[in-house]
Amino acid sequence: MTVTTNTPGYADLPRLISLMTGDDKHHAAAESTVDVLWVLFDRILRISPQAARDPARDRFLLSKGHGPMAYYAILAAKGWLDEEELAGWSSARSRLGHHPDRIRVPGVEISSGSLGHGLPIAVGTALGLRARRFRSRVVTLVGDAELDEGSNSEAIVVAARLGLDRLTTVVVDNQSSTHGWPGGIARRFETEGWAARTVSGRDHEALYEAFTRPHPGQPLAVVAVVEPKGAH
Ligand SMILES: [Mg+2]
Repeated sequence: MTVTTNTPGYADLPRLISLMTGDDKHHAAAESTVDVLWVLFDRILRISPQAARDPARDRFLLSKGHGPMAYYAILAAKGWLDEEELAGWSSARSRLGHHPDRIRVPGVEISSGSLGHGLPIAVGTALGLRARRFRSRVVTLVGDAELDEGSNSEAIVVAARLGLDRLTTVVVDNQSSTHGWPGGIARRFETEGWAARTVSGRDHEALYEAFTRPHPGQPLAVVAVVEPKGAH
């Protein structure tokens, strides 16, 4: 594919996000994920609109489906959506709702917004791809508070036991969890057999390194720490 000089980049994201106006309760949630999503879509995931149905594509599952403005902005930057569509988001006629819809929005692999589903679905997806002998990577993004949902606990336990080394969970940690985890979020995963790394959720190089350093035989958890909810 020819890369032209007007291909949107990271610097375009504030403008793209600002196209989405209106009464949105989840602005902090949208802002917390923007750097992690950018690194994933720009440098990690092997996905493209031209190969949207390739069975060997990587899979990105946005579990934390509330506050999807950053997600939509990046889908537009990467050619899945026309940026003209962003301005009408969340209106009755728009397919860009407050929760992403996998049927209606190109590039969206799961409908989400009801918390606690992405990681279990990612485990099943990784198992299915392994059975079909694809080496596709499956990445799911969850919030720290979302880990309070019991479905995540079951998925965390089983993923390492099954040796799902193509599975990555990125936890965007804005310290919003009700209960927290003894020893921190990374330890929660390590105890169950995952490789786990904690980095700044704003540091693109640190995120890239965390996503790409080998973790043979284990699923990977990347804890991306951002400023606390309400801090901005
Ligand atoms: Mg949170």
